[in-house]
Amino acid sequence: MKKEQILHLPPEITGRLLDWYDIHRRTLPWRGTRDPYRVWVSEIMLQQTRVAAVLPYYQRWMEALPDVAALAAVEEGRLMKLWEGLGYYSRARNLQKAAKVIMTDHGGRFPDTFEGLRALPGIGDYTAGAVASIAFGQAVPAVDGNVLRIAARLSASEEDILRPAGRRMFTAAAAELVPPSRPGDFNQALMDLGATVCLPNGKPDCGNCPLAALCAAHAAGRETDFPVKQKKAPRRREELTVYVLLREGKVALRRREDRGLLAGLWEFPHCPGTLPEEEAAGPLAQWGLTPIQWRRRLAARHIFTHVEWHMTGYVAEVRGEGDGSLTWVDRRELEGCAVPSAFAKYLDAAKEALS
Ligand code: SF4
Repeated sequence: MKKEQILHLPPEITGRLLDWYDIHRRTLPWRGTRDPYRVWVSEIMLQQTRVAAVLPYYQRWMEALPDVAALAAVEEGRLMKLWEGLGYYSRARNLQKAAKVIMTDHGGRFPDTFEGLRALPGIGDYTAGAVASIAFGQAVPAVDGNVLRIAARLSASEEDILRPAGRRMFTAAAAELVPPSRPGDFNQALMDLGATVCLPNGKPDCGNCPLAALCAAHAAGRETDFPVKQKKAPRRREELTVYVLLREGKVALRRREDRGLLAGLWEFPHCPGTLPEEEAAGPLAQWGLTPIQWRRRLAARHIFTHVEWHMTGYVAEVRGEGDGSLTWVDRRELEGCAVPSAFAKYLDAAKEALS
């Protein structure tokens, strides 16, 4: 068995990073609080999502669901509506699952240790580390892609950050640097450095980095060679034909299955493949509908982590009872349905047609 690699990063990193953070920290609405609920929700929203995109969602969420009790009790449609457009919807469902566990098993109080937080649904090592350090002052690291990238550059290590062994090595190295006096600030300083200076794509801004004198990749002029990552499998391409079907002032939606991609959300009816206009009426007959008038054709593309959707869409007036798989909603009801952003173009077309 291959021996685990051990990495020690220069201990001076901690002080330099905190001094830099005291001057350059980002002002964000979830900063300056030790409320675990706020820290937790912000960290989950920020997974795979840019800060600028999260800001309005976070504000709306906190107005609607100001505490864990409100989140545990909210009805699913409302929950999905608050998350609509942020993507990776299982995050919202897991937030609620965890909130229910906190209410039932912990009397409404957050567990205050890394291990206790880690045991909640949807909370992995990173989020448990972030909440435990920021809200409860526990000296644990919060290691995400930013921290792995910074650690790999500081050490110029060829260890692959996507391999579990590489991740463990960098996590252990980061853990040694977390100061018991300011663990939350240290972890947030790393997040800020990764977001504003030691950037992921292209050349990092080493001229403004407080750690430049301690950085092996910078000393070697090889910043962009790190981190080392194994190649990912290419995304699968799927073609879809999407329908915005209008009937008597209403549009047809369909609820997605409770499992898998975009589980339980509302979608516009669609079928596989790219159907030209002369063939596009075929699926309508299967749904018990007859087209009266085709209005226009709309192409769109949406990229998920593992799959790309290439969509051709039709806006059509139809008549007929329908086969029961479709739900017909008016403009006001449409506003209350959580439709994923993959269908944004078709949602806009539906709103325009119904207004
Ligand atoms: S010196 Fe450059 S590569 Fe090294 S940690 Fe700082 S920004 Fe990243």
